[in-house]
Amino acid sequence: MPSDLVIVYHRQPYEEVVKDGKTVFRENKSPNGIVPTLKSFFGHVEKGSWIAWKEAEDPANPEFERTIEISDANGNYSVSRLPLTAKQVSSFYHVTSKEAFWPILHSFKEKYNYDPVDWPTFREVNWAFAEAAAAEANPDAVVWIHDYNLWLVPGYLRQLRPDVRISFYHHTPFPAPDIFNVLPWRKEIVQSLLACDVVGFHIPRYSSNFVQVARSLFDVDVAKREKVAGELVSDGTALVERSVPTEIEFEGRRILVSACPVGVDVDFISERANSRDTAKKVEIIRKELGDAKLLLSVSRTDYTKGGIEQLLSFERLLERRPDLREKVRLMHVSVSANRKMAAYGQIQGEIEQIAGRINGRFGSLEWQPVALISTAVPFKHLIAYYRAADVAWITPLADGMNLVAKEFVAARTDEDGVLVLSEFAGAAVEMAAAVVTNPFSHKSMDSAIDQAIAMDRNEKRKRMQALRTTIRKYDLRAWAEEQRRLFDAVDHAGNEHATGRTLSAA
Ligand code: UDP
Repeated sequence: MPSDLVIVYHRQPYEEVVKDGKTVFRENKSPNGIVPTLKSFFGHVEKGSWIAWKEAEDPANPEFERTIEISDANGNYSVSRLPLTAKQVSSFYHVTSKEAFWPILHSFKEKYNYDPVDWPTFREVNWAFAEAAAAEANPDAVVWIHDYNLWLVPGYLRQLRPDVRISFYHHTPFPAPDIFNVLPWRKEIVQSLLACDVVGFHIPRYSSNFVQVARSLFDVDVAKREKVAGELVSDGTALVERSVPTEIEFEGRRILVSACPVGVDVDFISERANSRDTAKKVEIIRKELGDAKLLLSVSRTDYTKGGIEQLLSFERLLERRPDLREKVRLMHVSVSANRKMAAYGQIQGEIEQIAGRINGRFGSLEWQPVALISTAVPFKHLIAYYRAADVAWITPLADGMNLVAKEFVAARTDEDGVLVLSEFAGAAVEMAAAVVTNPFSHKSMDSAIDQAIAMDRNEKRKRMQALRTTIRKYDLRAWAEEQRRLFDAVDHAGNEHATGRTLSAA
């Protein structure tokens, strides 16, 4: 049975485990993140499909069923697993996406690595995703594609199925033309994105950059520009835009360009944060800390996350403020996603080296200033650390959104704790009530951490209240509703698909 909604996301929507010799599909262990929300969309349609890849030795004869049917609390949906060889996965995902696209998306031109890219393989894999989506979609279905590793899917899909509605969401930043146009495949990528009905981003800066890139490469007109909501326009923050293009036209088609930040499930996190289990764990953490303050930093190991710059700032803090020795601890969670990849292995080594140096310079048997943690902390424990921390110190050099900052605020139902947040995280646009800092400036990093450590209870409460109001407004549910509204808006705008509807109905 064909589907009304096809979600194209590179990862499968469950954990596949072998139990007593049988393969079973389990809900993802991590209850947070975007996957449960995406699955909840299947509750709104009669039939849904999810397209993902799965490694196979011989893709022509995979040792698994290509399509499985799932019936769970979200509804009925099928999951098509595209068989890809380890070589294809490495090429399209680990090389092209992570070594060439990722640095450009985050404006790190110097990390861009063009040489190992095998563009025909990237095309081939994206074509396979497009074919799988085309095979599943009902006439006029919504096909919802996620992230840059699938950039060519919309263009291929439009060729295969001119009738479907195509929406594409970027979970990363999107850079300005000076940076994006470093990619030699820029025209092919942008032409594919212009085959969408909706192109979505987290914040107005990214959608604005996308439109500028498109206009640098093609005759694209801005059909509509709108003022950005007042609470997203805080003076002086680096990623703020005051107005943003929301509709563009290309070759007689209208494309909605959306900026809507992914949020967190505030109720779920607040409830967990208020639970007895969390309270018990917080008590243990605080007891161990004694009267020392806990600074908490949580991220993946990635040059975009600014781990090194933050550790250096912590080292300066201990140099500058001998009074804080034995009075602060930094829990620096830096989860190594992929040690196999050269760029990540190297940065992990540097982080370990600096943390070791700080502990060597300032530590004693009783007090180690940095607790470096390289393996993922389970989410329920993370909530307890959010709750126990005096300061969440979140200072990426570039970050599409940064959910950790929002989770920290969601966990602080006690209206205590200080968030120090880089102005280069997408989240800073909503979270101007944080202590906003510029991680490229020593002075700014140092004064922000001083300010956070010294902040009085009253100011903490006021800032946390303001932060909680905005993260509730822009929570995960609001994001999901906006995405659904956009799917419908396309329906009503009636782009000229094969069904013969015309643009002028907009
Ligand atoms: N996370 C976790 N355990 C860890 C570190 C991170 O569960 O030890 C989760 C965290 O709760 C958040 C996600 O990983 O939901 C990281 O999302 P974010 O947007 O901050 O960064 P990304 O890794 O997506 O760039």
